[in-house]
Amino acid sequence: MPSISVARRSFLVVVSGPSGAGKSTVVDRVLKRSSRLVASVSITTRPPRGEERDGVDYFFVARDEFERRRDAGAFLEWAEVHGNLYGTPAAFVSRTLDEGMSVILEIDVQGGMLVRDRHPEAVLIFIMPPGLEALRERLRGRATDEDEIIRRRLEGAARELSFYGRYDYIVVNDDIERCADDCAAIIRAEGLRRERASL
Ligand code: 5GP
Repeated sequence: MPSISVARRSFLVVVSGPSGAGKSTVVDRVLKRSSRLVASVSITTRPPRGEERDGVDYFFVARDEFERRRDAGAFLEWAEVHGNLYGTPAAFVSRTLDEGMSVILEIDVQGGMLVRDRHPEAVLIFIMPPGLEALRERLRGRATDEDEIIRRRLEGAARELSFYGRYDYIVVNDDIERCADDCAAIIRAEGLRRERASL
């Protein structure tokens, strides 16, 4: 019998949720569990925090440079969050998708909604913190941030939470390993959808 080969189309995965919900750690763990999945590194005007490295956590740029790239159409989506600009590099994403790899974007809910409109095949996962108190503790735990920034982030968190109903999947991050397992399972199953396969 001739063997059957099924080609599977790559896709975008959006991970959003309030700051402090543990998204970055979840995404790191998901990348270790998933083959054919690559993270997009965003461009931001926010200054580096703690051990963050340019080109690894973000590409850190000045505001005028960000605006120049935005006006040249370099971003798949972009948004202003807590007074800083963040954008997803369009060329990297389309090149990676063309190479057959799926791309995971850790972005805010405004960006998530833009991706959903422009890429209806994208999979949107919302990471829910186990409770507001846990969220506050995690934000305080980032000793590099000032009180004022923490307060602004808590307000932002409440706004982000109100978007969960527009996401495809909700995963509660009360246990990081289980949360990463759940996200990896979602991505794996989504990759097997009939709509993404061609024989
Ligand atoms: P942070 O400054 O804590 O790293 O990120 C603040 C928020 O910006 C987080 O919700 C993060 O997911 C979001 N963010 C990071 N990169 C992007 C991006 O490229 N686009 C959008 N829309 N949001 C982003």
